[in-house]
Amino acid sequence: MHRKDILRKLFGATAFGLVVAVCVVAGSAVAEAPAFALESPYAFGEHQHKVQLHTHTVNSDGDHEPPWVMQQYENLGYAAVAITDHDYRGRTTVSLDDPGGHGIIHIPGVEYSADENNRSWSHMLGIMIASVHHEDGLDNRQAQIDQAHAEGGMVFLCHPYSDNVHRRGWNDDDILELVAGYDGIEIYNGRSYHEPGGRDYPYKVDLVLMDGRRVNVIAVDDFHRNPEETMDRGYVVVNSDADADTVTREMLVDALKSGNYFSAGRVSPEYPTSPFFTDITVDGDTITATVDKPSDIEVITARNNYYREGTNYVQIEEAVTASSYTAVPEDQFVRIKATYREDDRISYAWSNPIYVVAAQE
Ligand SMILES: [Zn+2]
Repeated sequence: MHRKDILRKLFGATAFGLVVAVCVVAGSAVAEAPAFALESPYAFGEHQHKVQLHTHTVNSDGDHEPPWVMQQYENLGYAAVAITDHDYRGRTTVSLDDPGGHGIIHIPGVEYSADENNRSWSHMLGIMIASVHHEDGLDNRQAQIDQAHAEGGMVFLCHPYSDNVHRRGWNDDDILELVAGYDGIEIYNGRSYHEPGGRDYPYKVDLVLMDGRRVNVIAVDDFHRNPEETMDRGYVVVNSDADADTVTREMLVDALKSGNYFSAGRVSPEYPTSPFFTDITVDGDTITATVDKPSDIEVITARNNYYREGTNYVQIEEAVTASSYTAVPEDQFVRIKATYREDDRISYAWSNPIYVVAAQE
């Protein structure tokens, strides 16, 4: 499906059935209940936990042993790590098993690959899966998604380059039509975001959201080799009522499934720490986001985003620690991005989407 078709589908004369929220009756303005509601994944909680969902070890094309990788992330203050070695070229993936030798939570994972003759060399992460499966062929993406879900796991599309940039990408047709039912998309990959095309990742996220699908976003390291340069650049921060001593893998996975987390990224581990969302609340038609240090807070919706041409946002407030936005039915979804700057050293945080839905009668 191409851009014009999606826009027609979204903004066609009859396609968008929601009505205005306020109407004027008999000369006096009567504010009625909004004809839409906002569906937010956010509950936040007393505590926040950093989680790494994309790493490699010597069991695929990484340089380091699994226990060493886990230990490094523990030293960096992470609560949990998914080791996601590649499943291709006959490599035995042992990343489902906890390698031990560390004090943090291990989440079983894999990076599903395709062979190099495949139509799209696109990759996906399987998270909290019970098996790494090849039976249906390496190129059967949908079978892998379905099996991961049957096992209680999640699937995220990796590094969605534009198709003219890299064969490892997800071109527009693939991301809309080749597979369905995936849980989310990498909006930031520390290894590739700054290559040509990397900045198209938010474009792909908005493409899928504009098509009416529900997807969360994740930021990841895709760690392979040099920890000083490539570790702790992209990660997710999971909200929880449990502290570091009592949080469990199940709690973290439940929050990942429900979307009660945000994503964060920066070019280098030497750059300032990304802003942390400390709360994202919904009150009627108004969304308020707060962050822990003054940041530029952008609101991205179906009306203006990284997929549509022109401005990427419908609202921006610069160098603030809180920002409110009043949604309208045409927004369809609302994403929030916070950008923190120290001179030209920039770091980011991205929310999961909040959805505009028809109000209950
Ligand atoms: Zn990878």
